[in-house]
Formats: sequence, C-alpha cells, structure tokens
Amino acid sequence: MTKNNIVQRFRMHVSVAPKLDMSVYVFWVDGLLIDTGPSNAQRQAAALFQQLKIDQIALTHHHEDHCGNLKYLLNQAKRPVFAHPRCAQIIKNPPKLNFLERRVWGNLEATDSVLPVDGVIETNRYCFESIETPGHSDDHLCFYEANEGWLFTGDLYVHHYIRYFIATESVAQQIQSLKALLALDFDYFYCSHSHLEALEKKLLQQKLQFFERFYGSVVGLHQKGYSERLIMKQLKMKERWPMRILSRGALSAVNMVRSVLRDEQNKKA
Ligand SMILES: [Zn+2]
Repeated sequence: MTKNNIVQRFRMHVSVAPKLDMSVYVFWVDGLLIDTGPSNAQRQAAALFQQLKIDQIALTHHHEDHCGNLKYLLNQAKRPVFAHPRCAQIIKNPPKLNFLERRVWGNLEATDSVLPVDGVIETNRYCFESIETPGHSDDHLCFYEANEGWLFTGDLYVHHYIRYFIATESVAQQIQSLKALLALDFDYFYCSHSHLEALEKKLLQQKLQFFERFYGSVVGLHQKGYSERLIMKQLKMKERWPMRILSRGALSAVNMVRSVLRDEQNKKA
C-alpha cells in the first residue's frame, strides 16, 4: 500500500524565531481527528476544524503540541474524545509547562471530557486499534487500522535518530514499544512530526536500532566507570544549552543518558 487520499494530514506550525518554525501534524480519516495541534497555532487549527467533519477525536498523548486545541474544539461542539486512561486523568489537571514549552507550543487547557479508550475506536468504515506504546510518555498510544495497514505513531518515531529527550522519557520502554509496532503488518506509518507524509516501515526499524545501540553504549561506558559527562563526550553528544536552560532541564541531551541509567536501575530493582 502506498500513500492514499483517505488519510488526510495537516501541518500546524508555530514561529519560534526568525526562520525557525516548529511543526506538528494532525490527521483526519473518516470523521476521526487524531490530535488537535498546539494552541499557538489556534488560528490555523480553527480554520481547519471548520472545513472538516469531525465526529470524534483520538489523542496520541497529553503533550501540549498534540492537545493544545482540544478545549477550543470542544467549545465549538461537543464530540467524544478518546485517549489512554492516564491521558484522560492528566488533561483534567495538566502539569505546569516550562517557559520553552509555553513559548513554542502554548498552553494546554484543562478539560474533563476525555474518555479512556476501550481498545478500539470505530468510524463508519474503519476500526482503529489503540496500542499502548509508553516510553515517550506514560500515556502514549498508537492507532492501527489492520485492514488498511495504517499506523499512526504519535511521537514514538519523530526521526530515526534523536539528540535530546524529555526528562521523563525511557529508552528501554521505547525499545519495547517499537518492537511491538514492528510486529504489526503495515508498510507505511504516519508520524506527528516528520515532514515525510507516509514513512516506510524500515525507518521504524532504524529507530529501534538507534535506541538499542545507544542503550548498549551507555551501559557499557557506565560499567567502565565513565561519568555522565564522559559518556556524552565518548558518544560525541552535544548538550543543547539554550534549550536545557530555557526548559529548566526538561529537555536536554543528558536526559538521554540519564534515561538509560535509570532504566538499568529499574531493571535491577
Ligand atoms: Zn510528545
């Protein structure tokens, strides 16, 4: 199966600095909207939502770039919203965002209208299976339409390698989640941040290999007694200081190393 005209993809973008735009994609298929985009792109979102027939909404996870326009959308018209039970809880009282998150994506307004998904979301013509895929966040779901071979991967892929992490992310969990997805039958997948429309399955495999190699390297160097700083130096990782400072440490390269060390601790415990 190649790209199709049934799944529609829409880019929402925010201007962070001159010549620096950040994008997130939302998807629409048969009345189902997957994610709502960030509130800093609300004007684009409002114009888009007016054109689309939205019967129901599915959320991949609670992050503000995916759920920022949910409250707005529900204020326009009530529709069922489905997400991971944990996501439904979090959105009732969202965590305070750091400066960078607010500046880039904008706020996430609380709502108690999110329903815990019960395994599948049905539209008139399709049936989407919700697949628990923790690691980027605890409440992360992917949506899979088995008959059509469509897979929506939220933030699990983003790119086949990455250079920084949110402080709470887990490499080990993302490895398990990627393995679970790779066991499914599909040729292409849809990512919330990649500029490519439909991505080949082999890219998801590459992401898994990247994480497995990274995990192994960090563990190996740690066992040799290397400090966090020396592990980063050895792996040629560069800290992104402006991002780390503006996010108060929520986003940084060192978080990737810390994630592996934490995962190893958890394995032993
Ligand atoms: Zn995210």
